[in-house]
Amino acid sequence: MSKRILVTGGAGFIGSHLCQRLLDAGNDVLCVDNYFTGARRNILHLLDNHRFELLRHDVTFPLYVEVDEIYNLACPASPIHYQFDPVQTTKTSVIGVINMLGLAKRVKAKILQASTSEVYGDPIVHPQTEDYWGNVNPIGFRSCYDEGKRCAETLVFDYVRQHKLAAKVVRIFNTYGPRMHPNDGRVVSNFVVQALRGVDITLYGDGSQTRSFCYVDDLVEAMIRMMATGRETTGPINIGNPVEFTIKELAERIVELTGSKSKLVFRPLPADDPRQRQPDISKAREVLKWEPTVRLRDGLIKTIEYFDDLLHRGDAPHKAGANRAAL
Ligand code: NAD
Ligand code: UDP
Ligand code: UDP
Repeated sequence: MSKRILVTGGAGFIGSHLCQRLLDAGNDVLCVDNYFTGARRNILHLLDNHRFELLRHDVTFPLYVEVDEIYNLACPASPIHYQFDPVQTTKTSVIGVINMLGLAKRVKAKILQASTSEVYGDPIVHPQTEDYWGNVNPIGFRSCYDEGKRCAETLVFDYVRQHKLAAKVVRIFNTYGPRMHPNDGRVVSNFVVQALRGVDITLYGDGSQTRSFCYVDDLVEAMIRMMATGRETTGPINIGNPVEFTIKELAERIVELTGSKSKLVFRPLPADDPRQRQPDISKAREVLKWEPTVRLRDGLIKTIEYFDDLLHRGDAPHKAGANRAAL
């Protein structure tokens, strides 16, 4: 049955794919975004669909709409962007989720909160299971994001206990794919853009730190399955691809797939950069009957195609935050 679904952060990388999937399933989608890191070009192709509605709005302010489901994705996700205005980042996570939970409470909507593997900080337990409480620096440069997202999880669980909300939390691990922001500093977009431009590929530290990369289509499928679970399922549930790579291996793969002449160069490791990250997805397998299906190689090929096209169009935004002006 068709539903009215609110996607906050819908003009961002993951949000734009989610909006598309929800529309394809015949739902009405209300996309809310303040374009801090998102862009209208990400959802341009949806504007003709009469079931799609776009609203410029900042989730730190109350929002009164009537919907059946809410996916709360609004929050900058890349370190460059979330550290640009750290106070606003925490406000977006904390006040934003309070507003969305208040909305869900008033209209009796189901709500799904996009949390993050960053709640585990620099993890001592490996791979990370959902019952691990994490190793997070509360006062560092990443804290505005990590602690904001942790507090958002707290609020979701308190609204469930106190107000009997049907709410869900997914902890998203590194996700990549078309429509990542070309200048947001995340590793996949950085390396692909550097390889395509033939400039040096910047490995931070010695490149031995690890991450596990999930293709965006797999993630979106898991989010939709999570929303479809019954009231008894709140989570949190890890969503990610458990196949782990070092950052150096990732760089080598991208060089190979692009046929680039770029050289690998080493740069200082940013503060509090987690050494290793790999999701334990047993819970997702059991509860959602889900596991990733797209191999890194196949996902990277699609991502490379996207960036190749974007760079050749010549309208790619040039620096972090620049897309604010380039709407
Ligand atoms: P993104 O930066 O592309 O998307 C975030 C969107 O939220 C953007 O469109 C931005 O303009 C919007 N936004 C930011 N602040 C807002 C505000 N106050 N009001 C309204 N809109 C606002 O990032 P993404 O990778 O698509 O991430 C989406 C969600 O998934 C985020 O909540 C992020 O924390 C989470 N997540 C992503 C990853 C990943 O690897 N991409 C990993 C873990 C968690
Ligand atoms: N809120 C909102 N839309 C709604 C209902 C509530 O944005 O449809 C906001 C409201 O402004 C409030 C927050 O959500 O600040 C939390 O609402 P709740 O009802 O839980 O708390 P209260 O209003 O009692 O503080
Ligand atoms: N990284 C890198 N070079 C880059 C960008 C990132 O070596 O140009 C590293 C970064 O230090 C981190 C990993 O790649 O160890 C993943 O970084 P990203 O910002 O994508 O995600 P997160 O650190 O939040 O997992």
